[in-house]
Amino acid sequence: MGNAQHEVHLNLNVRGLPVSATLGINEESNRLLAEGKQIYKLGLGQSPFPVPAPIVRELQNNAHQKDYLPVRGLPALCTAVAGYYRRTQDLSFVGENILIGPGSKELMFILQLVYYGDLVIPTPSWVSYAPQAHIIGRHVHWLQTDARNNWLLTPEELDRHCQRDPAKPRIVILNYPNNPTGCSYSDEQLQALAEVARKYKIIMLSDEIYGELNFDGAHRSIARHYPEGTIIASGLSKWAGAGGWRLGTFAFPAELKWLLDAMAVVASETFTATSAPIQYAAVKAFQGGAELERYLFQSRRILKALSDWIWTRLKGAGAEVARPDGAFYMFPDFEPLRAKLAGRGIGNADELCRRLLQETGVAMLPGNSFGRSPQELTLRLAFVDFDGAKVLAAAEQIASDLPLDENFLRQYCEKVLVAIQRVCDWLE
Ligand code: PMP
Repeated sequence: MGNAQHEVHLNLNVRGLPVSATLGINEESNRLLAEGKQIYKLGLGQSPFPVPAPIVRELQNNAHQKDYLPVRGLPALCTAVAGYYRRTQDLSFVGENILIGPGSKELMFILQLVYYGDLVIPTPSWVSYAPQAHIIGRHVHWLQTDARNNWLLTPEELDRHCQRDPAKPRIVILNYPNNPTGCSYSDEQLQALAEVARKYKIIMLSDEIYGELNFDGAHRSIARHYPEGTIIASGLSKWAGAGGWRLGTFAFPAELKWLLDAMAVVASETFTATSAPIQYAAVKAFQGGAELERYLFQSRRILKALSDWIWTRLKGAGAEVARPDGAFYMFPDFEPLRAKLAGRGIGNADELCRRLLQETGVAMLPGNSFGRSPQELTLRLAFVDFDGAKVLAAAEQIASDLPLDENFLRQYCEKVLVAIQRVCDWLE
């Protein structure tokens, strides 16, 4: 049967949607690699670090777990996740407030499916929120941010948006540390946003999947200021390096139990329950402990050193760049170099990405994949092209109170440094 015949049977909301942009650039990079080209993979945002040893051991110990688990999650895991938020954020969750799913992405999709509100997201935002809304048929509203304000949503902008239709049901997604910018909110900024959220009874989906990768270990949740309306999303994918394990968590306030219940109905008719061995292993991750703290300390230290080095270089090359507070992303804007780039026939982010991939081998993603205007010259880079296990072991050998210097980075994260140098040289 031809493609055309298949297409007429596709749901209208899926027809014409490309595969996720981040996966697309990865495939293109792999194609160039197969042709023998040197490629620097700063496209896909996958944690470079191995899953911490105690969690791997737990998975090994639980490989025999074969029964379907409760739809909402293994009770011991739900309790551990609630305990994690009590311990780290002083939030009073109990196991019944938690929903476990095969990745937080899946849980976000189900949330949008069961809740009838519009989706409101700041631009730039992670690539999948808007397509999910589109597939389900929800309206998406993008809220403007400003590079000079680190691309953060301001309470004024949120208020302005809500004022137009104050009673309208809406989900606002706040993601911090942010993908694609690495920037985060201060506690005061979260408090101000929480006041607006309360005023309009917003459902706040707080995507804190990079929370543990705040460089200073100082992540704060907006749920501390707006507990009654915030759902916290997280999982194992980023801070425990276990994206492929597919485990995500949602933490609901008692006031939103009806949403958790509705999501559990859909879960029971779709994924049934999250993989049993993975859930048993995840208990360990959320219980924490000295070994995990050590792993997180070193992860943050490495990412901060790399981030600082890259930020300084890109600024030196003339880009405008907000300085990241966490995670492994940066979102430079090459607008100040527009005239120079125009001279080379480059006038937008897509062209800039394509030419950089072809001429320097560095794979990055265009800002329009994150909701920015296609005419901008913004790009996202994910500085993860290094052997995380090796760097973690090497960082252990350097006294904890010392920063990791350029020599260290040259030795252990050489590819990332070379990639950034190639981009800077190309820009000259
Ligand atoms: N939120 C953000 C901001 C992300 O970057 C990602 C993964 N790239 C996710 C959510 C989804 O993570 P997972 O489904 O693996 O939990």
